[in-house]
Amino acid sequence: MRKNILCANWKMNKTYSEAQDYFKELLSMDLPGSQVDIVVAVPDLFAKMALDESEGSDIKIGVQNAYPKESGSFTGETSVSALADLGIEYVIVGHSERREIFNESDAFINEKVLAVFEQGMTPILCVGESLEQKEKGETKKVVNEQIEKGLTGVQAEDISQLVVGYEPVWAIGTGKTASDEEAQQAAAAIREKIAELYSQELADEVRIQYGGSANPENIGSFLAQTNVDGGLIGGAGLEAASFAQMIKVA
Ligand code: PEP
Repeated sequence: MRKNILCANWKMNKTYSEAQDYFKELLSMDLPGSQVDIVVAVPDLFAKMALDESEGSDIKIGVQNAYPKESGSFTGETSVSALADLGIEYVIVGHSERREIFNESDAFINEKVLAVFEQGMTPILCVGESLEQKEKGETKKVVNEQIEKGLTGVQAEDISQLVVGYEPVWAIGTGKTASDEEAQQAAAAIREKIAELYSQELADEVRIQYGGSANPENIGSFLAQTNVDGGLIGGAGLEAASFAQMIKVA
């Protein structure tokens, strides 16, 4: 039985004081943390504060990116090892905004997945098709390829910890969502691919989130799909009250 995992992805939003207020508000709510894993993926600048604010609670802190080298001349980047040392538990890897705006390749995303696992953290590996690919009927092919390339070299012993975010690119921040059935089918294809690469037993342990304009009203029907085990939430995760509502549904 997989435990649902909801992750709010703040992207590049909020000031420091707004970020502090969010944690105070979220923590003041009665969250069913034993039934669902709750993650807030903050900008790196807020990571230490977020860890301090959420200490002792059911809220886990993630970040939205990391650089897959120990240290060195990588101006402006933050290493996976520094984030792990700070106490970060989750790293979003391969978000479509990183793939598109920052030209991240599957090979680079794979380096990040390996580095995140090596540091004992959990990658949330994002995959998903563009509108053009969806219209050509290529969703399964695209997500399978992203999974295969993203997981190259990942040891079987790490796979059960993996979280995959299935995020159709055309649904992110657009108000459009995949249908429940589309989310279920894509998640099933991802699980089949992982089973082919590792084993059915391991694939059955991987949690697959749906992401793309999910909100308190629609999250319940995504989570009702047998292959969907959570949500990666952008816009609707920016307000503590709306994220809390989604946590309660999950
Ligand atoms: C995201 O950025 O991962 C996302 C799913 O955003 P939104 O919920 O706003 O579509």
